[in-house]
Amino acid sequence: MDGSGLPETRSTCPYCGVGCGVLLRPDGQGGLDMRGDPDHPANFGRLCSKGSALGETVGLDQRLLTPRVDGRQSDWDSALGLVASRFSQTIAEHGPDSVAFYVSGQLLTEDYYVANKLMKGFIGSANIDTNSRLCMASSVAGHKRAFGTDTVPGTYEDIDAADLVVLVGSNLAWCHPVLHQRVLAARKARGTKIVVIDPRRTASCDSADMHLALEPGSDVALFNRLLVKLYEGGALDKGFLAHTNGFDDTLHAAFSDDPSVTGLERVRIDKFCELWMRTEKVVTIYSQGVNQSSSGSDKVNAILNCHLATGRIGKSGCGPLSVTGQPNAMGGREVGGLANMLACHLDIENADHRAAVRDFWDAPRIPDAPGLKAVDMFRAVGDGRIKALWIIHTNPAVSMPEADAVRDSIAACPFTVVSDITEQTDTARLADVLLPATAWAEKDGTVTNSDRTISRQRAVLPPPGAARPDWEILAEVGRRMGYSAAFDYSSPAEIFREYAALSSLGSHFGRDFDISAFAALSDRDYATLAPVRWPVTASRRGGRFFADRRFFHSDGKAKLLPVRWRPPAAKTEPRYPFRLNTGRLRDQWHTMTRTGLSPRLAAHLPEPFAEIHPGDASRLGIARADLVRLTSPTGTAILRARLTDTVNPGQVFAPMHWTGETAPSARIDALVAAATDPVSGQPESKASVVAVSRFDAA
Ligand code: SF4
Repeated sequence: MDGSGLPETRSTCPYCGVGCGVLLRPDGQGGLDMRGDPDHPANFGRLCSKGSALGETVGLDQRLLTPRVDGRQSDWDSALGLVASRFSQTIAEHGPDSVAFYVSGQLLTEDYYVANKLMKGFIGSANIDTNSRLCMASSVAGHKRAFGTDTVPGTYEDIDAADLVVLVGSNLAWCHPVLHQRVLAARKARGTKIVVIDPRRTASCDSADMHLALEPGSDVALFNRLLVKLYEGGALDKGFLAHTNGFDDTLHAAFSDDPSVTGLERVRIDKFCELWMRTEKVVTIYSQGVNQSSSGSDKVNAILNCHLATGRIGKSGCGPLSVTGQPNAMGGREVGGLANMLACHLDIENADHRAAVRDFWDAPRIPDAPGLKAVDMFRAVGDGRIKALWIIHTNPAVSMPEADAVRDSIAACPFTVVSDITEQTDTARLADVLLPATAWAEKDGTVTNSDRTISRQRAVLPPPGAARPDWEILAEVGRRMGYSAAFDYSSPAEIFREYAALSSLGSHFGRDFDISAFAALSDRDYATLAPVRWPVTASRRGGRFFADRRFFHSDGKAKLLPVRWRPPAAKTEPRYPFRLNTGRLRDQWHTMTRTGLSPRLAAHLPEPFAEIHPGDASRLGIARADLVRLTSPTGTAILRARLTDTVNPGQVFAPMHWTGETAPSARIDALVAAATDPVSGQPESKASVVAVSRFDAA
């Protein structure tokens, strides 16, 4: 209770991977009163501008309230019957790989679990991928290569205890603001130094001791140089290195890389290396600037190499920490909701893992190879290999690279289903069947944040109209496809218990993920579940990985990976001489379907824009506030020019939030090439090439 005497409900902010706890109370007028949860270990009561405006975004404006079929109002029985029969018919005629699910890090873990079970265990295809592919797939790949599993070694408490925080490709101040507040609190309390490594001078640089504005995509060369300096400076931890493989080859690769490709003065690189070397407690936080790259996995491993070589991992105040963009990107990884994974960090290519999961589910089949990752999935939609597609809580017609082509592919798909809270998205407008799903304040389930903490999200408002929870919609389709027993769920608690029981396979096969102690959780205990960091087993609750220097490769050792710098896939050329960097704004979220409902948030930066260096602008005859045209090989956008030296000459930054609904000329992902990292499949959203001209120029 707060001062009003009315009960508050504990839940979790649905925007970013920080996973802040919130206390909610209906205001009696369709909105919510809210405050940060002082007891939640992610935020201890703090909230950012987006989180604190959540209560303004829960109205029924623009909500989808009934199923729609071919643009006409329908009912659940007809709509779900059609979905089940069209998917069954397509599978019967063309095989299981002719259908696909494209889901979202907005889904709760229980929703994700049911979607993954239906596709992998019962339809028998691995064609389920997620918009988290655009967010952190390179981190997953890097973790697996270094540690043997997708283990996030760092925690938020490590930030509080660090003496140096290095932000790589992360505008933490705008994209994960509550974590940034923790960094600033550490600086105040213990003098923590902050280094920002980013081609752009972002808001995070305002409080930094050093900003290294490296050339886009050159992070591997920078961290290879750091490894060389650590070696030359005698800063390696030989005792720790005995628990790793691959150091000699890794060092050799590091020596052969040329740090000048970073575009940074040698003296500044050396200053950074010296600071790193002489500071014992170093946390490296990295995000989309690392992951969204055609060499994203190598960038991650270049960072991990430095932490492993110096033993700055697995102990307080140390470690690499990948922060996810979405509230439940981590939960999606844990349930295996990506095309190349099985649940509980088990491997789809491993026959024993597949057999164990299939037996647990009593499933008729399970695919023996990875499915189509996001970019390839939409290519398969475009060339007709995918004939039935179900898109859940995401807007790929705007957010995928080469968004115009993706939009055209979805439009041409023989059967497209979209589950969402609104029909006002570019993707929903293309659906044959639209299914009204519940929104975050109406949903019950769990999410996992970027430091492995599982938190409950709790319904505080009733579902409006005919809206239903995603797990219920998916289970109903599973039953109608003939899998009644496997999808006979009555509550998210029941799904969570099944998932927890399945997770004992994680430990059984020597993986990190296991929450099997929750397999017998009562409904009452699920209802009151407090935030908890996994693993949760009979013998362990939370804690730190790698303090014992044991990793998850078969020999128990970590791997340092020899990596070499590669330039971004797209090359600048006379026709496309600028590098385009895309990213988020402080007060907007994804394609603005929720944050766009808050006038307070919209007031921050109300219209789409392109940041251009004043020197480039002058050369091109562009004045402040002119409209400019950005043209890439795949699309065009018209944006307001903002002249600023926060971007270097030859570079342009544009936010990615605006859509065909809000600003048709500003769909920035239409300009982004669908080049991907060869290991992770993550697209390179920060180094496309474009031409820039004044809009009215000939
Ligand atoms: Fe929500 Fe992220 Fe802000 Fe926390 S930091 S309040 S999770 S948007």
